[in-house]
Amino acid sequence: MSDRAYVIDEMISAKAIAARIEELCREISTEYKDTDKLVVVGLLRGSFVFIADLVRELDLPIEVDFLEASSYGDSMESSREVRILKDLRGAIEGRDVLVVEDIVDTGHTLNHVTHLLQSRMPKRLKSIALLDKPSRREVDFRSDWIGFEIPDEFVVGYGIDYAQRNRNLPFIGKVRFTED
Ligand code: 5GP
Ligand code: MG
Ligand code: MG
Repeated sequence: MSDRAYVIDEMISAKAIAARIEELCREISTEYKDTDKLVVVGLLRGSFVFIADLVRELDLPIEVDFLEASSYGDSMESSREVRILKDLRGAIEGRDVLVVEDIVDTGHTLNHVTHLLQSRMPKRLKSIALLDKPSRREVDFRSDWIGFEIPDEFVVGYGIDYAQRNRNLPFIGKVRFTED
């Protein structure tokens, strides 16, 4: 668990992330070019670095809101049952909404969150995830935009933690245990 010794091997550099975000934001800005205001919803806590970089590359009028869903806690396994720990501040009925997630893994979290938000009758609801692990999927969910597809590895950095640590690494790295 979290007291096992590990090292972090770089998987996606800060430079590669920045370049990919520029590409994605060109697409997103085109998609929403006619919007009066886009509500960008970050899923706490893992998306906080991604959303900060993303909104600064969007050439659109935006508002930022946050939602927190229950997650792994400090474990490395998905809980599958998703609960809302902190809901949005604002109403999204009739609004353009973009949900921002760090990783789509089993798919349960984004599947649950997008169904919940869809029930509030937004005008247009889409989602973006920095990372996607398609080999781990348990529910049929596809994000509208994906930064990078990655293999089934436990990753940290760029907002993503292991037992609340390593969120401040500027790159995405994979955790490699050095002893059992
Ligand atoms: P899902 O509900 O799709 O299984 O998982 C969603 C959440 O699990 C992600 O938003 C993320 O918080 C967490 N998660 C999935 N894979 C990883 C990983 O490799 N590292 C970390 N730290 N969290 C992960
Ligand atoms: Mg998450
Ligand atoms: Mg976590």
